[in-house]
Amino acid sequence: MRPLLSKRLNAVAPSATLAVTEKAAALRAKGVDVISFGAGEPDFPTPAHIREAALKALRDGDTKYPAPVAGKTVLRTAVCEYLERFCGTKYEPADVIATVGAKDALYYAFASLLDPGDEVVIPKPYWVSYPDQVRLAEGSPVFVHDPDDELLKVGAREIESALTPRTRVVVLNSPNNPTGAVYSRDELQDIADLLRGKDIVIVSDEIYHRLIFGDRKFTSFSSLPGMMEQTLVVNGVSKTFAMTGWRLGFAAGPRWLVAAMAKLQGQTTSGPASFVQTAAAAALRGPQDDVAAMRTVYERRGERMAERLNAIRGVRCGRPQGAFYCFPDMSSVFERVGVHNADEFAEAVLDRVHVALVSGGPFGAPAHVRLSYSTSDAAIEEGLNRLSRLLA
Ligand code: PMP
Ligand code: GLU
Repeated sequence: MRPLLSKRLNAVAPSATLAVTEKAAALRAKGVDVISFGAGEPDFPTPAHIREAALKALRDGDTKYPAPVAGKTVLRTAVCEYLERFCGTKYEPADVIATVGAKDALYYAFASLLDPGDEVVIPKPYWVSYPDQVRLAEGSPVFVHDPDDELLKVGAREIESALTPRTRVVVLNSPNNPTGAVYSRDELQDIADLLRGKDIVIVSDEIYHRLIFGDRKFTSFSSLPGMMEQTLVVNGVSKTFAMTGWRLGFAAGPRWLVAAMAKLQGQTTSGPASFVQTAAAAALRGPQDDVAAMRTVYERRGERMAERLNAIRGVRCGRPQGAFYCFPDMSSVFERVGVHNADEFAEAVLDRVHVALVSGGPFGAPAHVRLSYSTSDAAIEEGLNRLSRLLA
């Protein structure tokens, strides 16, 4: 039978970040000594007290369908406390939905908000899944870019130039994947001033909010005056608490939107696993010292990776500000490796020196590559030794 796939699905690419992880794992299974700077996934184990909370939940028989569909009250209450504590915003449990990862919350948001042809403004470079999720929801991604900004951040001016009567959503992501840049309060304030009062929802992906370096401060977009009623904040436990495999995200925003997302969840996944929700509540409410310790380690690793990248002739990498990615422009070394773009470069590096990194192509930046430093110090040194030798 010929594959009877929808046009909608055919318009979507597989996740490049997950693909590189799978590729590295397949090579490892064959005995190849791969260093992976691929997927952004903490190398730390989930803190012990969170795992204990899950085990206790299982022992207590927390194994039924989670109810309500939008998330257990214990978790949604914990999310409200957590957002108040770390973002300075006051939500009620009815403003919150718990989802199967932040990824799921993002997709529900696009699917709830978009009709065919509705436009979503996405700053470029972008996290790989935004445009494809928008296309799955039959919306149209509209990219904005400021190539002159050293950290590739966009301002209100770029966003304004992309607004049309079809604009329904603007996506923001700070700290940023893939650039590692953090938007200042003033920069976000300018964007808020532009969008305030318009019929546009800001989807603010704040999943790296606790991974910020130096004396920088995190600003939640919904904490800006007037923005709470127009913003869907997306967050989760994957990065902050090293819980990627638990698949637990959450979103907080206008009640009409959260209710629509819950309706969608009720007709699709029915929500994240019940005992995982209980453990996530423990993560949000429990001791936060592991988070602080991991953040300190990431900061050191980021500095080291950037230093080693900058020591390679022709490579320029900014000092990491947050998240756990370096995103250097590699175009001046392509010729040295005999390649034409970042896709070919990433392939060549994996084939020749067994270092997995992600091409900037799927992030909308074909001169760049993304290296995640959520891996051990030893792996960073060895991976950079290999890259330095290849590019010598
Ligand atoms: N947003 C960004 C910017 C990400 O890097 C990721 C990857 N974890 C996600 C959302 C999704 O996170 P998860 O589904 O693991 O909660
Ligand atoms: N978000 C991480 C990344 O960008 C994990 C993979 C994924 O969810 O796509 O690498």
